[in-house]
Amino acid sequence: MRIVFLGPPGAGKGTQAQRLKDYLGIPHLSTGEMLRDAGDAGTSLGREADRYMQAGQLVPDAVVVGVVVDRLGEKDCARGCLFDGFPRTVPQAEALDAMLAGKKMPLDLVLALDVPQEKLVDRLLSRGRADDQQDTIEERFRQYNALTEPLLDYYRGRGILRMIDGEGTPDEVFSRVRAVVDAAAQ
Ligand code: AMP
Repeated sequence: MRIVFLGPPGAGKGTQAQRLKDYLGIPHLSTGEMLRDAGDAGTSLGREADRYMQAGQLVPDAVVVGVVVDRLGEKDCARGCLFDGFPRTVPQAEALDAMLAGKKMPLDLVLALDVPQEKLVDRLLSRGRADDQQDTIEERFRQYNALTEPLLDYYRGRGILRMIDGEGTPDEVFSRVRAVVDAAAQ
């Protein structure tokens, strides 16, 4: 299966994708993690991405799409994968469609974790990552609302969007995720 996790910053995409990875046994592709790794490695791509990430802005589509194209070409993705934090813009979603069409691999599900934004700031502040400072967080929400939220309609139109209540403990949320995925696998 190929599954996309959508949701605002701090909604739990990474946590849930990690659990679903263990449940389904398919790789977890987090573009945020890949970009942070490139930044730590000090590659030119990583340094460019880091400037945007520190400002709470999205990394340009062409950079992110390039990273995903490379990763999707690896053998372990043949059986399926979980996209966490990608796509984040409509052009990225279109690029993903084109990549998957070229490989004759459909996107099966888009799981949108739904949590009111006022509940997310505290979660992010307590996480303590470099891009989790108050002003950066506000910018990340602005970017989410302007650029990523339109993806809900994009995927709703395809009939593959499933909204999941993202409030509660990680276990509670995962049982909802699992129910949706199990139903889709029938
Ligand atoms: P995340 O770990 O998914 O919260 O991503 C952390 C940061 O990495 C984001 O705030 C963006 O700056 C950058 N990033 C991750 N994925 C993408 C993407 N698909 N498009 C653009 N920027 C991204």
